[in-house]
Amino acid sequence: MSESTTRPVLLLLRRDLRLADNPALLEAAHSGLPVHAVYVWPAAGQASRPGQVAAAWYLRNFTAFAAELQEECGLTVDLLQGSLEEVFLKLRTQHAYGAVMLNAGHDPPALAEEVELQQACRDADVDCLMLPANTLLPTGAVLNKDGNSFRVFTPYYKRFLERYRHQPPLAQPGRMRDAGLSGQGDSVESMLQEIPEAHRDAASHWEPGEQAARDCMEQFIARHLREYGSDRHSLEISGTSRISAWLQAGVISTRQVWELVQQARERDPALADGAAIFQRQLIWREFAMQVLDDNPQLPDRPLQEKFAAFPWQEDKAALAAWQSGQTGYPVVDAAMRQLTSEGWMPGRARMVVASFLVKHLLQPWQQGEAWFADWLIDYDLSCNAFNWQWVAGCGTDAAPYFRIFNPILQGRKFDADGTYVRQWLPELADLPDKVLHSPWEASPLELQAAGISLGNDYPQPLIEHGLARKRALDALSRISS
Ligand SMILES: Cc1cc2nc3c(=O)[nH]c(=O)nc-3n(C[C@H](O)[C@H](O)[C@H](O)COP(=O)(O)OP(=O)(O)OC[C@H]3O[C@@H](n4cnc5c(N)ncnc54)[C@H](O)[C@@H]3O)c2cc1C
Repeated sequence: MSESTTRPVLLLLRRDLRLADNPALLEAAHSGLPVHAVYVWPAAGQASRPGQVAAAWYLRNFTAFAAELQEECGLTVDLLQGSLEEVFLKLRTQHAYGAVMLNAGHDPPALAEEVELQQACRDADVDCLMLPANTLLPTGAVLNKDGNSFRVFTPYYKRFLERYRHQPPLAQPGRMRDAGLSGQGDSVESMLQEIPEAHRDAASHWEPGEQAARDCMEQFIARHLREYGSDRHSLEISGTSRISAWLQAGVISTRQVWELVQQARERDPALADGAAIFQRQLIWREFAMQVLDDNPQLPDRPLQEKFAAFPWQEDKAALAAWQSGQTGYPVVDAAMRQLTSEGWMPGRARMVVASFLVKHLLQPWQQGEAWFADWLIDYDLSCNAFNWQWVAGCGTDAAPYFRIFNPILQGRKFDADGTYVRQWLPELADLPDKVLHSPWEASPLELQAAGISLGNDYPQPLIEHGLARKRALDALSRISS
């Protein structure tokens, strides 16, 4: 064997903190070569750095992953701060690697780092093997008859189903050869200390690791998959999977999630409808990635150009009230407080609060996108920006701007018995159901019996719904005419 074919492999990991269905890890194992595993952790301010809650979540998952990798495969993994290129160049001065292996990322900051890494590898005459991971189909694989990307979801979805042939997830590797080069990494504890305590606390509501991700899916399949079509909208029963946290950190792959649902559907045909709707949601995730790939400006600029002239009314106080769950609309405030408490809220609530910020308060959707980026445990550049543009009505396949959610009716419909609002707004807990979603309609006696003084214990609404609706439609007409 020549020297270059016996040199160690540098395995670079990012959003792939799992042993099973991890293409780069398995490839490194199959090479039979000694492996130096490194988790590449973006420094604060670096474009590929996740938001604050997601950052704390990734680090906690890294700790769980490092222990599993050691126990199951006999491999030690270092954590090193920097970009892919920086980490490679730093290590390269100390060690002569034969190859670099990694899983491909899917957003512009990750792709930009991959281009730099590939160039650095070419300059150093080191092979760089990058493998698709974390998506069902590689971005760019679902095209229309003319070879172009779809701009709307339904035809994309149909074509996706025609193209997709499910492959079982890759096996977890067995024992691997550790190159014995580890031990110089940064400490997870010091990285965690860089993150504000409130964000760390939010992430601590979630159990890290692959087993927790599998448990989450199994519970969802047993409890909610059958009725997912209707349960997913309910705020009272939390009828969605909550798998997004693990999925976006790469603790479980989309293929593994798809497979668990597929197996359940084959075991029990009564689950077929719920399973099909759930799998369709996974394809929305891939569509969002495709839209970002085609439009790198997605997080910053509206895809429909006329929205660049939208007459936003920037108002710091209104934004702060929305952020802290003090708008006076209970369903909006409950969801915003859930977000800063546990880094998550259901998809239905995301749509309601996003619509409220953009349409009731006329605040630029980018402000909401940034707040979500910082607080969502499942923050993902493509899913977040795509959905904000969808709600704001300025994306390629977006809900029309004139469709304005009524936060009172949304509350009454999807939190009919008030469980959700009472959980997150305990100050309203004793209000009767009929006024829970509109406390300003409660009589003085009802308020007194519930121990609430409106304007003191809970705010008056920031703006009356009918007025807000009219103001939003007037603003729209200014860019439409
Ligand atoms: C304003 C706004 C911002 C959002 N930001 C994010 C984000 O940063 N990260 C994120 O993962 N999702 C985001 N979503 C999409 C969606 O709300 C979440 O994926 C979902 O609520 C996660 O909960 P779950 O895993 O229980 O979902 P489930 O209903 O169980 O769905 C299963 C999976 O399907 C995918 N999915 C479901 N809905 C969507 C959707 N609308 N777009 C793309 N993928 C979807 C997710 O991967 C999700 O985990 C956002 C939605 C809105 C309206």
